[in-house]
Amino acid sequence: IEQTAYQNDKLAMLGRISASIAHEIRNPLTAIRGFIQLLRPHLMELGRDEYARIILTEIDRANDIIYEFLNSSKPSAPQKTAVSVMGLLKEVVMLTESEALMKGCQIALNENDKLMRVSIDVKQIKQVMLNMIKNSLDAIESISREREGCIDIHTVLEGSYVHICIEDNGLGMDHNTLSRLFDPFFTTKESGTGLGLAVSYRIIKNHGGFIHVDSKHGRGTQFIITLPVV
Ligand code: ADP
Repeated sequence: IEQTAYQNDKLAMLGRISASIAHEIRNPLTAIRGFIQLLRPHLMELGRDEYARIILTEIDRANDIIYEFLNSSKPSAPQKTAVSVMGLLKEVVMLTESEALMKGCQIALNENDKLMRVSIDVKQIKQVMLNMIKNSLDAIESISREREGCIDIHTVLEGSYVHICIEDNGLGMDHNTLSRLFDPFFTTKESGTGLGLAVSYRIIKNHGGFIHVDSKHGRGTQFIITLPVV
């Protein structure tokens, strides 16, 4: 799936705008959050705690969106260092394990090729992996009553590239979702930002890599991230 010039322009514009206004919006949001928390006991007395809960959730969501804007507006040239692919994956799996456990999901990391190294911006690529695994966890959460969730992660070396495969047995995607999932702001989640994959796509492209996706609605999804090896 190719990200179009239009999508790239949209992301670049978004980055410029967000960098200039994000902080200005964050400050009043922080103030609003604080005061709502002070008001909360009074709302509770009135039997309106639900209102406070909604306001807080929505403020947090606005903050998440701003945070992702800021990330997408950072200078796009990666600060590269050579690291082990397996080491990186192990770290990312560790970071997501507690959430997986809570959702009753297994993450299986297949540790083959321990020596394989890539030259990457560790922070950016970690963000991509976290996005992918979190998406898989969300997809699994929504079918958790039907089957046990599992995420399989493995790598395949092909010539001077490594394919990092992240496969889940979650909800999968229908045709409409598949055709739009890299669009900035496209989301099917109630509290999604729709920025995770758009930003991931740009990061991988900036590393000279590719993202490939394969999904069956109701069955599961596989993302393949391809990066040049050192
Ligand atoms: P968000 O997670 O905020 O919705 P993303 O850009 O990360 O934004 O994802 C866009 C959409 O792509 C999601 O709302 C979801 O519909 C779909 N998606 C992404 N990953 C998966 C997955 N592993 N399984 C099913 N659907 C997915």
